[in-house]
Parts: sequence; structure tokens; C-alpha cells
Amino acid sequence: MSERRSARLLRLLACPQHCLTFAALTVGEAWLCVRASALPFVTSAGAWLVGLALWTLLEYLLHRFAFHLPPAHPLALFGARQHFDHHAAPERTPITKPLVLTAPALLAGLAAASWLTGSDLVAPLWAGLVAGYLGYEVMHVAAHVLAPAEHPLSSFQRAHLDHHVDIRSNFGITSPLWDVLLATRRR
Ligand SMILES: [Zn+2]
Ligand SMILES: [Zn+2]
Repeated sequence: MSERRSARLLRLLACPQHCLTFAALTVGEAWLCVRASALPFVTSAGAWLVGLALWTLLEYLLHRFAFHLPPAHPLALFGARQHFDHHAAPERTPITKPLVLTAPALLAGLAAASWLTGSDLVAPLWAGLVAGYLGYEVMHVAAHVLAPAEHPLSSFQRAHLDHHVDIRSNFGITSPLWDVLLATRRR
């Protein structure tokens, strides 16, 4: 393996300590929902998959409508400033979202959804959503760190790099579905 290639793979693997945190949270949530609820395994697994699919929509909406707010906008505190910096220097680390922003948002969302619905389905659904978020972080870093020949899903990488050329298109990173349905897909 060439030195540059191993350096890129190391950057990908070392990227986000907080991805490991989220992986632990995902496993912890899955364990908790199996232990603490009376839900059959198939129901929990179905809710997890729904959460994973829901993440792709949330990712699209956040990226399109929150992360591309002008940096001076009062709501730009919630990710848009960091995303503006990412577009200015796409290779600069950290490429991942700051843990100080994402961890409270995910935990507050889980608490609110549990409190509002009181449903046992929330825990596995949220675990799926967090797994989707983890996939988003890893795929985003991979899009910027790996060479096209090394990327296992090079069309996803190309789509995201095209987003850096035209910020009105290709908002999905883990899925092209919402770009296709909402007519923002380029290529
Ligand atoms: Zn990017
Ligand atoms: Zn963007």
C-alpha cells in the first residue's frame, strides 16, 4: 500500500472519535430497548430500520435548509457556520460535526420523542436514526479523504463533491433519494 494511500485510510479510520461514541450509543440504545421493553425483536428491528430511513430525510432537510443559512443568520449557530467553513476548506479537519452540537441535539430529540409519545418504539427508532447519523459522518469524511479508486461507493463521493461545486444540489450524502424526489439531484 502506498504511503499516501495508507495515510488517507488512517485519516478515515482516525477521523471521528465521536463516531465511536455514537456507535457505542447506538449499541447501548439497542441493548436498552431489548432489555427494557416488551417489544418483539422483529418490531424493534423494524423500528430501527424506520429510524435509519428517517435519518436520510432529516439529513437532506438539515443540509438544505439549516446548514446553508447565511453565516450571519441568527440560527447559523446550529451548524451553518461550521458548514460554511467546511465549504471554504473542504479538506480541513475536523470534517465531522462538533460533538458539542450533535450529542445534545440527539439526546434532546430522544428525550422529547419519548416524552411526547411515551412509546417503546422510540428507543429502537432513535437507535436507527443515530446509526444513520454515524453513517453520514463516515461517508462524508470518506468523500473528502479517499481517492475515487479507493471509494467503495464512488458515485456517492462524486455526488457530494459536485455539491461542493454547486451548493444548490446533491444535499443527500447517505442517500440520493430525496434529491431525486425533490428535484435537487445533479447528474
Ligand atoms: Zn463536504
Ligand atoms: Zn453543503
